[in-house]
Amino acid sequence: MVGLDKNIQYVKGVGEARAKLLNRLGIFTLKDLITYYPRTYEDRSIPKKIEELVDGEEALIEVMPVTRVSEIHIRRNMTILKMNARDDTGVCQITWFNQPYLKNMFRPGEYYKFYGKISKKGNKIEMNSPVYDKAEEAKNTGRIIPIYPTTYKLPQNTLRKIIETGLCELDGKIPETLPDYLISEYKLLGLNDAVNQIHFPKTFDDFKLARNRLVFEELLSMQLALLALKNQYTKDVKGITFSKNVKMSDVINVLPFSLTKAQLRVLEEIDNDMEREKPMNRLLQGDVGSGKTIVAVIAAYKCVKCGYQAAIMAPTAILATQHLESFTEILKDFGIRCELLISGITKKKKEEILNRLEKGEIDIIIGTHALLEENVVFKNLGLVVTDEQHRFGVRQRSVIAQKGDNPDVLVMTATPIPRTLALILYGDLDISIIDELPPNRKKIETYAVTKGMDDRVNAFLKKNIDEGRQAYIVCPLVEENEEINAKSVMELAENYKKKIFPEYRVEYLHGKMKAKEKDAIMEEFKNGNIDILISTTVIEVGVNVPNSSIMVIENAERFGLAQLHQLRGRVGRGEYQSYAILKYNGNSDVIRKRMKVMTDTNDGFIISEKDLELRGTGEFFGTKQHGLPEFKIANLFEDIGTLKAVQAIAIKIINDDPKLEKDKNKLLRQVIDEKFGSRIEI
Ligand code: ADP
Ligand code: MG
Repeated sequence: MVGLDKNIQYVKGVGEARAKLLNRLGIFTLKDLITYYPRTYEDRSIPKKIEELVDGEEALIEVMPVTRVSEIHIRRNMTILKMNARDDTGVCQITWFNQPYLKNMFRPGEYYKFYGKISKKGNKIEMNSPVYDKAEEAKNTGRIIPIYPTTYKLPQNTLRKIIETGLCELDGKIPETLPDYLISEYKLLGLNDAVNQIHFPKTFDDFKLARNRLVFEELLSMQLALLALKNQYTKDVKGITFSKNVKMSDVINVLPFSLTKAQLRVLEEIDNDMEREKPMNRLLQGDVGSGKTIVAVIAAYKCVKCGYQAAIMAPTAILATQHLESFTEILKDFGIRCELLISGITKKKKEEILNRLEKGEIDIIIGTHALLEENVVFKNLGLVVTDEQHRFGVRQRSVIAQKGDNPDVLVMTATPIPRTLALILYGDLDISIIDELPPNRKKIETYAVTKGMDDRVNAFLKKNIDEGRQAYIVCPLVEENEEINAKSVMELAENYKKKIFPEYRVEYLHGKMKAKEKDAIMEEFKNGNIDILISTTVIEVGVNVPNSSIMVIENAERFGLAQLHQLRGRVGRGEYQSYAILKYNGNSDVIRKRMKVMTDTNDGFIISEKDLELRGTGEFFGTKQHGLPEFKIANLFEDIGTLKAVQAIAIKIINDDPKLEKDKNKLLRQVIDEKFGSRIEI
């Protein structure tokens, strides 16, 4: 049999030049070729009658030429071929540009199939530049035709032919990659049938069966790999065993409020992890305002009282500063020393802090990316907490963890994602969820309004400010360009300052400002000296100003739902009834549906599911920012059903055979080694 690793150049009909083009599509071997799946399909299997043809559609007709092909020279280098052909319902004119070799191809009286785009003007029906076959042939028509992503230098027909040749060479002898017991238990197609049918399905049912098998395998191998990765952390690595004698309840009992059930449950999970020898790798998901910070404070308390240092990493200086306040306030009575490390501090202060940190004279260091720098050295780092995880990559998480000797790691995120997806994104972490808000939180009343309502919105803002509250106005990111965004914020601010609310103090914040300027404005806002703060999404995460009770979001249709939810979480943090007003443009169904989700619910988990449903995974996750594995065929949104099934199957398999050593799982092990080999050792 031909090997799957055969160089593409030597597949019949390829050669050096085409091989180069194929390489650009990421195709280097025969295996790459046959796993280069179609983007879509065209059904060229069922001919239409001429009288049924519709303007603009692509269609297959089966017709007999009634004229010879006539050739018209329009200009030098430009010829048009025309021919009339008919079936028993009408006549169609068929036209080609610059293909003189077709001139003697068709004979009146014989039947041919043509597939192409129809244009209809009055009674005149035309088909332009169709592909064709003799009636009894099915090369370019007569079947469901796969359409591949390709470049114009490598035309569809050519690529299709090459793939067909490749499959022919393999002759149905591709080695199976799934164990028999899975194939029969889940009624899956064998690999050969699946691969042949995904390229050249006879019917759309064939296609579905083929796709189902390939998606199953793709998702299953990824889940197994993630579980294996997790096992790898948990099995062999020795971390810190924190003492059972240090009780989290020491802090819990002196808090000015009682923790929610969800907070207590999550703390117990963390406590258990900390007291175990293997390092903790835990993701803490909780909606905005669900009280994640206090959880981190209590975990850090335990760490410090057991004789270790803790590091808390936040994405912005504002947040880090705020965390420092929360930590100090709660922990000062326990003699725990907290310090702040952000890039804004003086060189001298920084040196002093680094020095004390290394000597162990600081117990908890709270900071931004500055903590990642090489010269940040700990005496004995025991716990790393990263807040608002989506801002940090997996790599950064490990950079800071490496400053200790397998410290425990807690990752906190306020962007709730459906559990199934969390298992993919954070499949290597254990997951804890705070699914309950502290009591007596008032629901943030949310209204979606269109442009015409500006006056009413402004009047409402005025009323709230006159009652002593403060407001945020958020502008959307116009584009990925900070300059332009800054400009749009400033323009909007000018308008509010000079025209709409000259009587109030209006200030603005944007990503182009220096950290110092931003912090100064935030400080003023916190102290109540600014009435209206206009900003880009830099205020998105974590900022806590309890007196601000109203947020207006401009062009709300441009934000993702999860992000809108994050944003509005900046209000409703104090005792006042709070409001979010979403100004939106556009009239599409999806926009209205999305706005309705926001006004209907305050539950971040529901919102993220809806967001996913309304936008699809691609946009939900943003381009690759999450390090999500790329799939050749699976689509996390469409295939969520398969994903759920497969997650359960993967767990069953791993429980039964943690290292995939059993004979029946040999193939699975091979697939994972091949796909993820460099990243995972089981
Ligand atoms: P987030 O999860 O968004 O980070 P925070 O930790 O900032 O939320 O908590 C939001 C606010 O709720 C803080 O002011 C915090 O002190 C308060 N809080 C946290 N837990 C409770 C609780 N159990 N009861 C009352 N207030 C709480
Ligand atoms: Mg927070």
